[in-house]
Amino acid sequence: MASTAATGFKMTVVKPNVTSPCRMFSSRSPISVLELKEAAQAKIASSWHISSFQPISRSCTPGPMNFNAFVTRAMAGESDKGSVPGLPIDLRGKRAFIAGVADDNGYGWAIAKSLAAAGAEILVGTWVPALNIFETSLRRGKFDESRVLPNGSLMEITKVYPLDAVYDGPEDVPDDVKKNKRYAGSSNWTVKEVVESVKNDFGSIDILVHSLANGPEVSKPLLETSRYGYLAAVSASSYSFVSLLKHFLPIMNPGGATISLTYIASERTIPGYGGGMSSAKAALESDTRVLAFEAGKKAQIRVNTISAGPLGSRAAKAIGFIEKMIDYSYANAPLQKELLADEVGNAAAFLVSPLASAVTGSVVYVDNGLNIMGLAGDSPTLAV
Ligand code: NAD
Repeated sequence: MASTAATGFKMTVVKPNVTSPCRMFSSRSPISVLELKEAAQAKIASSWHISSFQPISRSCTPGPMNFNAFVTRAMAGESDKGSVPGLPIDLRGKRAFIAGVADDNGYGWAIAKSLAAAGAEILVGTWVPALNIFETSLRRGKFDESRVLPNGSLMEITKVYPLDAVYDGPEDVPDDVKKNKRYAGSSNWTVKEVVESVKNDFGSIDILVHSLANGPEVSKPLLETSRYGYLAAVSASSYSFVSLLKHFLPIMNPGGATISLTYIASERTIPGYGGGMSSAKAALESDTRVLAFEAGKKAQIRVNTISAGPLGSRAAKAIGFIEKMIDYSYANAPLQKELLADEVGNAAAFLVSPLASAVTGSVVYVDNGLNIMGLAGDSPTLAV
């Protein structure tokens, strides 16, 4: 990568003209998400300064994207009020692979932004059927407003890899999928092949983020879920993390870390979060502990999962009542405010940073505290 230093340029307040990537829905909100976001950005920006400024040259194996952008290496540092003696989240020199980014609405995108703001290089894995539209939108600048980082620069994604995390290797792919026109235009998208490609392109990674889930029967109660639907949910939403870690582990630098996204339905009954998705999240959390043990012992890699509050992402809309879940959270969580995707992103950045070097095997709740409430007994709005 070419690198041009341009230190000393200090940001004060950044108020980009951003339409929220979070797309929160709450009829009860007294403040718009945009206002909250701008206030948060202004607050963050006041304590951040640019430490280096690097134009990206695509010296690596060319990816499917081809647009010029700049990466700004940002880290917490001096604020306007003077020197902050604090704890910077500094991910400069770290490379992250984020599996499960296909638009600018979800947690994967928000985590990518937070990691980029802390200086990490960003690679993403995008589900094959969503790849074309994601890359086209990226290339055409549709996400440019959402790419704005706290210091005003744009998040750069160094490379987008097609990925289908339910297939470990090419031998697992059924003929009908191979022939499907949404898959036929891409290659090397099974987990093993993606990891090989990343290894060939970059050699290693430091951070693995699993931000993907899929439950074809999510709208069916568990009692009506087929064996196929249940196993598909666990395959896409839980085993996909086992597989990604298993294959990435040999190219993860010691001291690296992983994050996945889970949901409170793993441990409390959330009527409507069906199709085996609650089971899949329970498996993901259990696996977090076991994999933390194994990957920690074997390769000094930390494994944590964030139990995130409800967000109106594309995947969540498939559940059918995400807006009710957001409203319920807003009304009942101890912190009565919108949950911003960026708050989950920032927690993820902390958890994968050296600041959290002793944290592994944990479920970290980033949900305005909703998890401490007695959901099962008093959730009339969720009783669908
Ligand atoms: P999202 O739509 O942004 O992310 C889900 C991603 O998974 C999409 O990009 C989709 O293309 C991808 N995907 C689906 N099947 C795939 C496969 N086989 N291989 C590769 N990628 C695949 O939605 P999100 O809600 O931000 O979801 C991210 C994670 O956050 C998921 O694990 C989800 O369960 C979790 N989560 C979401 C909420 C919420 O309310 N949105 C709450 C808690 C946890």
